Amino acid sequence: MSRLTQADLADMNKTFEGRTPQELIRWAIDVFGERLAAISAMQRSGSVVCHMLSKIPMRVKVLFVDTGVLFQETVETRDRMRDAYGLNIVTLHPKQTMVEQTNELGVLYLTPEGQEQCCELRKVQPLKEVAGEYDAMIGSLRRGDGGRRSVCPILSVDTNMNCVRINPLANFSDDEMTAYIEENNVIINPLHEQGFPTIGCNRCTTPVLDNEPRRAGRWRHLGPWSQYCGINPTDLDAESAPAIDLPQDLVDRILGRETDFVI
Ligand code: SF4
Repeated sequence: MSRLTQADLADMNKTFEGRTPQELIRWAIDVFGERLAAISAMQRSGSVVCHMLSKIPMRVKVLFVDTGVLFQETVETRDRMRDAYGLNIVTLHPKQTMVEQTNELGVLYLTPEGQEQCCELRKVQPLKEVAGEYDAMIGSLRRGDGGRRSVCPILSVDTNMNCVRINPLANFSDDEMTAYIEENNVIINPLHEQGFPTIGCNRCTTPVLDNEPRRAGRWRHLGPWSQYCGINPTDLDAESAPAIDLPQDLVDRILGRETDFVI
């Protein structure tokens, strides 16, 4: 095994700034093959990534964490996308239902500490259950969404999952997103048209006013619009020197040491 640090990815990240999302997805498939998955919460940018994946021959698995308290529209969007695009969607679940969790631990999402615990139990842990099955995961974070995502790298190391995260839409602008969605008639979660710029669990997501930040509707009851669930490590305070361990030959391929692929 070989260590791969966030610093090791710096040069690749600089090179990748000029690549299109489709080129980045193709690079990921070339490098990681069957050990690549995507993760989507069935929000707008996730739908765009899923649509892009549907246009390539390899059926990359799409991981979807169903916390058990999602909006019905979100679950229906998953099903519509699976049926229309032939996606290989793998739905992950928490160990307990929300009723069981509440009976044991109380209503966690009403306090900042409880929110962290609830998100860990219902979002992060189900994903950790499949850690080791994948060396890389494609996400759909965009810098244009602001907040901590405004500095999101294209490539990052995910120490929770011991894998590389690839965000091919990191520098995709709002205009590019809108154009892609319109040109390709991408299936979009209908809640986006009902005042929800971002969408999470039904317990912790509200619509947002025009003059509010996009994420104002996430954990609004906790304020001040800064909470993240932790399922995307780059949303959290950075570890001092995040690193993962992958096979040496894979690290060489990631860093372009032994391959001569051109994207
Ligand atoms: S978003 Fe709310 S309900 Fe969903 S897992 Fe996090 S704290 Fe729990």
